[in-house]
Amino acid sequence: MKIAWPNGARIAVALTFDVDAESTWLGWDSANARRPGVLSQGTYSPNVGVPAILDLLHHERLPATFFVPGLDADNHPDTVRAIHRAGHEVGHHGYEHVRADPDDPAGEERSFMRAIESLTRLAARPIGFRSPSWDFTEKTLELLKREGFAYSSNFMDRLACYLHPNTDLVELPVHWILDDAPFFLFGLGRNQRPIQPASHALEIWKEEFEGLYELGGLPYVMTMHPQLTGRPSRMRALAELIAFAKRHDHVWFATCREIAEVARAELSRPDRQPAS
Ligand SMILES: [Zn+2]
Repeated sequence: MKIAWPNGARIAVALTFDVDAESTWLGWDSANARRPGVLSQGTYSPNVGVPAILDLLHHERLPATFFVPGLDADNHPDTVRAIHRAGHEVGHHGYEHVRADPDDPAGEERSFMRAIESLTRLAARPIGFRSPSWDFTEKTLELLKREGFAYSSNFMDRLACYLHPNTDLVELPVHWILDDAPFFLFGLGRNQRPIQPASHALEIWKEEFEGLYELGGLPYVMTMHPQLTGRPSRMRALAELIAFAKRHDHVWFATCREIAEVARAELSRPDRQPAS
């Protein structure tokens, strides 16, 4: 269902950053704990990627949402504090960067609560959830409801925001087309895709923006990773994407939290029924 965004905006733009540092590489192979060269790809995120992104957002006067795995938050507390101090939203991104095991609900709950504890200590209690794999188990929804989360940003089944059945949990849909990983992720031994010009991704992101803008009432959720987008050429592409969006009238840049608040208020109205 399309949403009437504030001040007549045609589109709600959520710039989101999954601040995966070493956790991504540990999640793929725990033996990477003894491979500092492999881990250094993730360490680029707090060292260079996040500071560059915070500078750009400050310069553009834009809010954003940063989903931080608890493990990376604990290892890089100053990064989380800097994001929070700059006024951005900090969201839940699991503790270890691993897919939750549907056969181990107790383990999922332990990790979920541990991440809340870390982020609450360093920033504020999170109310938004992006799983490390963009996936849920049966336990996940139960945890989100129980812990009072306002939104999830994990599913690809619609363009529009919607409420998960029998809850007031808003879904802010994502898609690979608005993710930097399919274009930029590269690593020895896996994800051996050729490195592409940043302009290629930028062109696709602009085209998708135009499509969603034309339809109206929809969110534009960009999922980026500071260890990938934080490279200079890609930061230039992100700056151009922001400039491109700003050249359109009636564009609302907001945190996921703000977007979910507006969506929930509209979608909860008794006269509005969930649709496409
Ligand atoms: Zn991640």
